Order: sequence, then structure tokens, then C-alpha cells
Amino acid sequence: MDRIVCVQCPVGCKIKFEIVDGKIAKVEGNKCPRGLAYLEDELREPKRIVPTSVKIIGGNYPLVSVKTSAPIPKKYIPELMKKLRQIEINAPVKAGDIIVKNIFDTGVDIIATRTVSKNSQ
Ligand code: SF4
Repeated sequence: MDRIVCVQCPVGCKIKFEIVDGKIAKVEGNKCPRGLAYLEDELREPKRIVPTSVKIIGGNYPLVSVKTSAPIPKKYIPELMKKLRQIEINAPVKAGDIIVKNIFDTGVDIIATRTVSKNSQ
């Protein structure tokens, strides 16, 4: 049987599954139905929350940490990293600010996860 770890809650169930003729034929190890839904999503289109950082101009730090507001399809991650490397935003930035809205038309925003003040020097 193949294996996957459900990341929908801190329990982290180790789910074993078997695919027959392209369909899930057997599943065990999930402690709730969300595990099966997660497995189906992972097989159809795996998604991840992406934490990273973007450059800040005139801030008391050179970078601000950011993350996607929700999981995005893994296929977008290389292009997302490339796009975010090209972005420079002006300080100040508050935790929770939207840095990029609706990235790649996914409905997911890129949000700041920390506050960076203006450099006072
Ligand atoms: S299957 Fe349910 S209990 Fe287990 S990790 Fe996923 S969400 Fe949590």
C-alpha cells in the first residue's frame, strides 16, 4: 500500500491507501473523514501553504516574511518563488498586509507574517 501523512490537523494520521484502476480502492489509518478528502485532493491536485520572504525598501529589516493565505497547487510554486524574488515593497509593512492579491487567479493572497517598520536612520 502507498502512504501519505494527513496535514489537516496536528494529529498527522499516517494514511495507507491502494489505487486500483485509477480509483482509491482501500484506505486505512485516517481518524476522520477529512483524511480521505485530503487524500483525494492530494491525488487530484496537491496543494501547499508556501512560506517565504520578499524584499523591503527602507525597512529596519531587508526582508519581510510572507505566506500564502491558503494552500495553492504545487504546480504554481516555482513560478510563485520567481515572482516573489522580483518584488520589492516599501516599508512599513504590517503583519497581515496583503503583498500580492489573488496570485495567479487562484483566489489566494500573499500576506505578510511580520511587521517591518521604516528604517529610522
Ligand atoms: S485524518 Fe482527521 S484526525 Fe487524522 S490528521 Fe487528518 S484531519 Fe486530523
